[in-house]
Amino acid sequence: MKAIFLRHLALAGLAALTVGCQRNSTPPPAPAPTPPEVDSARIAAVDSEPGNWLSTGRGYNEQRYSPLDKVNSGNVAKLGLAWTHKLDIDRGVEATPLVVDGVMYTTGAYSIVYALNAKTGELLWKYDPQVPRGKSGNACCDVVNRGVAVSQGKVYLAAFDGRLIAINAKDGTKAWEVDAKDGSGRTFALTGAPLAVKNLVLVGSGGAEYNARGYISAYDNATGKLAWRFYTVPGDPAKPDENPALTMARKTWTGDQYWKQGGGGTVWNSIAYDPETGLIYFGTGNGVSWNKLERGEPDGDNLFISSIVAVKAETGEYAWHYQETPNDNWDYDACANIVLADVTLAGQPRKVLLHAPKNGFFYVIDRKTGELLSAEKFAPTTWATHVDLKTGRPVVDQKIADWSRSAKVIAPGPFGAHNWQPMSFSPKTGLVYIPAQEVASLMAPHAKPGFDNREGVWNIGGDLPLPADPKVVEQIAGSLKGRLIAWDPVAQKQVWSQEYRNIWNGGTLATAGNLVFQGTADGRVVAYSADKGEKLWESPANSGVMAGPMSYEVDGEQYVSVMAGWGGVFPLIGGAIANYAKVRPESRVLTFKLGGSASLPAPKHEPVPLPELQEVKADEKTLAHGAELFIGNCAQCHGLNVVGGGLIPDLRYLTPDKHAIFAGIVAGAKADRGMPSFAGRFSAEDVEAIRQYIIQRSHDLKTELGSQPPTPVPATHS
Ligand code: CA
Repeated sequence: MKAIFLRHLALAGLAALTVGCQRNSTPPPAPAPTPPEVDSARIAAVDSEPGNWLSTGRGYNEQRYSPLDKVNSGNVAKLGLAWTHKLDIDRGVEATPLVVDGVMYTTGAYSIVYALNAKTGELLWKYDPQVPRGKSGNACCDVVNRGVAVSQGKVYLAAFDGRLIAINAKDGTKAWEVDAKDGSGRTFALTGAPLAVKNLVLVGSGGAEYNARGYISAYDNATGKLAWRFYTVPGDPAKPDENPALTMARKTWTGDQYWKQGGGGTVWNSIAYDPETGLIYFGTGNGVSWNKLERGEPDGDNLFISSIVAVKAETGEYAWHYQETPNDNWDYDACANIVLADVTLAGQPRKVLLHAPKNGFFYVIDRKTGELLSAEKFAPTTWATHVDLKTGRPVVDQKIADWSRSAKVIAPGPFGAHNWQPMSFSPKTGLVYIPAQEVASLMAPHAKPGFDNREGVWNIGGDLPLPADPKVVEQIAGSLKGRLIAWDPVAQKQVWSQEYRNIWNGGTLATAGNLVFQGTADGRVVAYSADKGEKLWESPANSGVMAGPMSYEVDGEQYVSVMAGWGGVFPLIGGAIANYAKVRPESRVLTFKLGGSASLPAPKHEPVPLPELQEVKADEKTLAHGAELFIGNCAQCHGLNVVGGGLIPDLRYLTPDKHAIFAGIVAGAKADRGMPSFAGRFSAEDVEAIRQYIIQRSHDLKTELGSQPPTPVPATHS
């Protein structure tokens, strides 16, 4: 026994000696350090790791600023494609990718999640939550998703159909899934990116036009258990208020329709967090309906719609609110991204919150107290003359702005002076880069009296304008402008701007390399100098770009990445105005680096000729009835006047074989292709009236086209 022990000892000594010899000659490579899991502390300190992009706005302050400067205003001209990754579905793409230690996590249409090698674009895994394709009609604004959150080894997805799903970051398997709907049975959709804060995942709500009641929820990130939920509008008065702030809010509702119709105030996009104040900041959307009279609220403020609300991160307890648009009557969602910044105002350092919502005013708010510090117009805005800093309220010019009884042209219209496309802030220039737009719109109450709020469709409380005349369409299109604005939030004034022919351009990225990146509605990615706004570089994107770009570093090389993919509410409803640039949707991740030489496949621009047209077999009265049904049920996706916006099938090009099965398609035969079922909604005569109206519009198109060559349109439902 002793001998064996000694022998072991000798062998051990020999082994030690051998290892020692090896150490002396060639040291073994040090094992690559495993980076710690992303957690709240790492996201809060994101600036200590400039190469990563850990949350949708990069860090909790949502500034969308990259401290990387290897790509800069001096060399950006040499930027080329490093790689591209084609997505599965060519519909709206709104996500900002996250990059964690060389892995990119992003999302496409129908909430499909992609994990890619950030250096090569190679697919590591894909997670398809199998959102029923026929549910596409459950939200106003396309089957989009604005990206994921990553924390503690998991990727969190807010799926379109209302589920919050935790996915294991390593292999794309599902860890847990919960239903983030509140059990009310109301139409509901999720499109915003969740936010990971400490042990919680925050997720909002969507669908105000469909009678949703707005709220934000926090779930335990390990188990999916609901930690807290903050409703933004009061519910059934026969039941106790879910939080004390709602008792205060209820006093600002004068009618009794709101709680029956859901109320709105959905938290469909922006959520920010300040670890120092411990507060979560989120923006809320419009009420149900847009029209204040249709929702029975001629003069109530209607808290907390169109507001920024701050709650305590750990408990969801109310801290403060600022209502940007009291008694909203214009679909002025306050859901544009909220940026947290430290600025010097009147010689004093201030911790502020910067916001440029749809209503056209740029707000600077003290983020500890909610005090309004300043508000100025950043785009043409006619509904209010100014914001009174003493009362904090907008001074509304009702003669110009109140369309609830008679039609008015109002700026901004419902597309907003700045919609969800994220703005960025550079602490280096002190400027905010706003993807703004000039969008005066005609708003009109229902021509038919006694119009009722209906479940499952858009309830905006008015008629959508119907410019059938192509000349009028041209005129409106010509008046819409996109504008990238560099805004000084301290002086509250524009420093420079770039104009685009189209609205609905992409979000922005600011970098330490004195650059601002933006994708455009007409299918490009462009870089400007951040200080002066000089255009320094552009690349084709093969598709309209809406999403916000981002930047990261792998193995010492800087990359700039953006999701290309046209869609959202504008091309769905906007008809010829949205299809101005004739850019087909092609959904793809585009990633650039200095000297990159990857190529982009040629865009799909095959012109489609008008098929053989059917004969119109309906009288004027039936056609008018068909038009009315179309505008109330079909136009929100197939465009005003049956003019496709370039995203989904232009029904004027419907082929005879599809006309033959039209009633079946309306009843759900193509639900797996994204056409929702309207089974039970219409009589057979109604369906035929809609079809006859479509045929009439095909004939109108033939007349308009005359001898012009055919234009590219998306393929009809196959
Ligand atoms: Ca809205």
